Amino acid sequence: MLVFVINCGSSSIKYQLFDMPEKRVLARGVLERIGETGSAVLTHRAGDGKWNFEVDAPDHRAGLDFILRTLTTGETGVIKDLSEIKAVGHRVVHGGESIREAVVIDADVEAVIARCAELAPVHNPPNLMGIRTARDVLPACVQVAVFDTAFHHTLPKKAYLYALPLELYEQHGIRKYGFHGTSHEYVAVEAAARLGRPLSACNLITCHLGNGCSMTAIEGGRSVDTSMGMTPLQGLMMGTRSGDLDPAVLVHLLRNGWVADAAELDRLLNRKSGLAGISGIGNDMRTLEENMDANPRALLAVEMFCHRVRFYLGGYLALLGTCDAIVFTGGIGENDHIARAVVLSGLEALGITLDADVNEAMIRGRTGAITTPDSRIPAFVIPTDEEGMIASRTYDLAK
Ligand code: ADP
Repeated sequence: MLVFVINCGSSSIKYQLFDMPEKRVLARGVLERIGETGSAVLTHRAGDGKWNFEVDAPDHRAGLDFILRTLTTGETGVIKDLSEIKAVGHRVVHGGESIREAVVIDADVEAVIARCAELAPVHNPPNLMGIRTARDVLPACVQVAVFDTAFHHTLPKKAYLYALPLELYEQHGIRKYGFHGTSHEYVAVEAAARLGRPLSACNLITCHLGNGCSMTAIEGGRSVDTSMGMTPLQGLMMGTRSGDLDPAVLVHLLRNGWVADAAELDRLLNRKSGLAGISGIGNDMRTLEENMDANPRALLAVEMFCHRVRFYLGGYLALLGTCDAIVFTGGIGENDHIARAVVLSGLEALGITLDADVNEAMIRGRTGAITTPDSRIPAFVIPTDEEGMIASRTYDLAK
């Protein structure tokens, strides 16, 4: 069965076409700059081929039409006819409290996604637009939504509530929801397989460190705490997001007029902070590490990033009491041996013994332990596969 996975952002569509259940990727790509001045740009890969096209895509509908033509025609094509695609899996960021797992999309599900746009204004509206567009263009397909928040539906109240007046939660849904759930769940399943145990018998700490970063404490296979909050801003320091800070700082900035309004505050916290804000030379960890010997701000950014990961690691070890494995994933988690070494060094007393050589050799695409065989708690590097996970969930529901 062919399953088409799409992740619709405000100006982009990422896609992969899977042959299921083998999870064989027939084609994948990303269309960027939709609706912006000038052309949109499509990068499409199939087999060993890679193509770049300039596309006239004033909106998502035009963009998706072009992608589907690319999949069906000429040398870029991998299928003869769109009718070969039986199901579409959509990545949706926010499912609120009511959605606990992947679902076939109907009017009720759409209404939930629309309602949750209040909590995820940057992500849910384009996700919904993607769903509506795909339904128009591929009307015969089963449409499935897989939510970033779903894996965290098991958070206990003591973990998800903020210590604000309870009415704010009851009336407005102000609480921690958590994100990156598809990734945390995927690497947790893989880690359990490596441990040779059912996931329900595993306590894990999963670290998704990419441009966005989050960590999750998993007890008996269930998410019991996670570092992101009501929005993906809370928790770890990220590429351009601040993560945790004293909320009084926001009051202070507004009261003194150092930021003009909520929109500027939003930009400051989400786009100008994190690694980029501290280093002053951007949010790419590779660039920071290349420059950290010569540039004290780059070094400081890397140190702060790792400090925050260690802080959550310690907290989650205490929350869980016992931990069967720590997992690193995401662009930084999978590739950055320097950050992993800083995070895990000197933790022998907590049962974690890093194998420095093995860690350094663990590069892109590799899976395995980076701790010594006698480390009481192993740490694994496991490349995430959110799209593959979405394809599996979609296939399960569609079949
Ligand atoms: P996203 O969250 O947008 O999916 P990724 O998971 O691809 O992002 O992570 C992007 C981050 O991974 C960037 O900060 C990038 O610098 C970092 N990264 C990728 N490769 C390496 C590497 N070899 N060494 C250090 N950092 C890396």
